[in-house]
Amino acid sequence: MGGIGFLLEYKTKLAGSLLLKVDPAYTSQTCYACKYVAKENRESQAVFHCVNCGHEDNADHNAALNILDRAFQPQPSTGRGTARRGSGTLVSPEGTSRGRAVSTKRETTH
Ligand SMILES: [Zn+2]
Repeated sequence: MGGIGFLLEYKTKLAGSLLLKVDPAYTSQTCYACKYVAKENRESQAVFHCVNCGHEDNADHNAALNILDRAFQPQPSTGRGTARRGSGTLVSPEGTSRGRAVSTKRETTH
């Protein structure tokens, strides 16, 4: 009864309505370590074993890593954004209009 779809939507909302459409194709055949794609990489239903670099992992785990990897690939390293999350992002409503100068100052202080 739409279980998985519901869960997906629910989790997506939890993640801050960040819906990244990731094509799951080949994620289960792609080596997370070297990105080599081959169906031979799937040693069995449960075991992933890369025929290129020898990387071994739980097949589901490897696939999940690939999906994560794809989801976040379109965003090249923006540097400061990731490291500074949580500090300085909360701006009081009254400070939003003139708070820009403050926030840029904050970013330059390392
Ligand atoms: Zn590999």
